[in-house]
Amino acid sequence: MVVGDFPEEVDTLVVGSGPGGYVAAIRAAQLGQKVTIVEKENMGGVCLNVGCIPSKALIEAGHRYHDAGNSDDMGISVGEVNLDFSKVQKWKQSVVEKLTGGVEGLLKGNEVDIVRGEAYFVDDTTVKIMDEKTSQTYKFKNCIVATGSSPIELPKFKWSDKVVSSTGALALKEVPEKMVVIGGGYIGVELGSAYANLGAEVTILEGTKQILPGFEKQMSQLVSRRLKKAGVTIKTEAFAQEMEETENGVKVKAEVKGKEEEFEGNVLLVTVGRRPNTDELGLEQAGVELDDKGFVTIDKQCRTSSSNIYAIGDIVAGPALAHKASYEAKVAAEAISGEAAEIDYTAIPEVVFSGPELASVGLTEKEAKDQGYDVVASKFPFQANGRALSLNESEGFMKMVTRKEDGLVLGVQIAGHNASDMISEACVAIEAGMTAEDLALTIHAHPSLGEITMETAEVALGMPVHIVK
Ligand SMILES: Cc1cc2nc3c(=O)[nH]c(=O)nc-3n(C[C@H](O)[C@H](O)[C@H](O)COP(=O)(O)OP(=O)(O)OC[C@H]3O[C@@H](n4cnc5c(N)ncnc54)[C@H](O)[C@@H]3O)c2cc1C
Repeated sequence: MVVGDFPEEVDTLVVGSGPGGYVAAIRAAQLGQKVTIVEKENMGGVCLNVGCIPSKALIEAGHRYHDAGNSDDMGISVGEVNLDFSKVQKWKQSVVEKLTGGVEGLLKGNEVDIVRGEAYFVDDTTVKIMDEKTSQTYKFKNCIVATGSSPIELPKFKWSDKVVSSTGALALKEVPEKMVVIGGGYIGVELGSAYANLGAEVTILEGTKQILPGFEKQMSQLVSRRLKKAGVTIKTEAFAQEMEETENGVKVKAEVKGKEEEFEGNVLLVTVGRRPNTDELGLEQAGVELDDKGFVTIDKQCRTSSSNIYAIGDIVAGPALAHKASYEAKVAAEAISGEAAEIDYTAIPEVVFSGPELASVGLTEKEAKDQGYDVVASKFPFQANGRALSLNESEGFMKMVTRKEDGLVLGVQIAGHNASDMISEACVAIEAGMTAEDLALTIHAHPSLGEITMETAEVALGMPVHIVK
């Protein structure tokens, strides 16, 4: 049934409630805009429901299960360690629900109107919002589009109960005995290592010469080594060609360094990238231009080719990361309020929640040199940090790239325990234009992993205290 469709007038309409959309809606409301947000599935988008949060919950469960049975070197041994995976899934879901419920509460608390349904653009000031039964037209003054991305399905590896995307892998009812992963990017490595820690025999097939190809070789090697220790088989320069379903799973044929090999798994996780959700939105009717990969083209204020429509998050170019989406959300909301906000991607961190964690912000040594900087690259090992030793997590290093003439911090890479938290100090340093001297002269609490930042800066200044020059 289609009810009488008298258009509703709204001020700012936000399409999608992921970390792009819900943050944009809250910030726009805080700035005095009357905001309506529309969501066709669950509040919180991919990140909260089937991305960042549930994956980290599963990774944590994997660590705890693995560590419970592997702490002999610290004098701790327990009897048989049991895993009730249905309880793990229940706990993971409770974390998700706390956060998605929280988002809804925050939106309501900021007086954002929530509409359920799928938005489709009719022109540059009009959308239709449809659910199974009804369709309602909305006229907007400004719109922020934050419809996110979806996993890429390979033609020869169609989704099924045995061939799953990250969403399916997060929802498995039991830990598979054997899992094959196509794609050694961060999602493949994170989920592959979580299931390996939970007891699965995991094989990762990666097309390039190393897993996590976006990171420096030495960092990726640390992760490879840890994965292999956990029993994971890693095949690089491996191209999955085809598969057949068997009674208990799948058989995958792959070309590995030019030779054909076969891999068997009860579950096949395919994670070879994501594509922007821009094809079923009617954006062309709103005059919104896309690039040849389907990303919305935007200016420095996230404005599209249609001047009252903004786009943020995974549907615009750049790393598909939740914090990038939320950052762009604030810029777009402020731009609509007439503020002079502009995007500056200099200090966007990238993190892999692997063992050990990897994190990077700013320029790598190579990128800095390619850009013409005369640089100093300084390293400090976790092994020389008291806190890392007391955590029994002494593997890894921090690398700091500074400008030779004045020590300006250009980039920081960390491979080691808690790199995901440690990188924030480096983000602040780059954002604030700090030098190695600023970091070295800052008093850091002892004993802490944070001291590694101070000590790496001291290496850059040529005066490290806890390693010999
Ligand atoms: C397994 C996994 C792990 C990840 N881990 C991390 C991590 O650790 N850190 C990190 O930074 N990033 C991580 N990401 C990436 C992160 O989830 C995304 O970058 C982020 O969710 C993008 O936010 P977004 O707001 O652009 O879109 P999304 O979160 O995708 O939200 C888009 C929303 O729009 C809705 N929507 C789409 N079309 C319409 C329509 N027509 N009408 C109404 N609603 C619509 C969708 O239902 C969805 O809820 C991970 C992703 C995955 C898959």
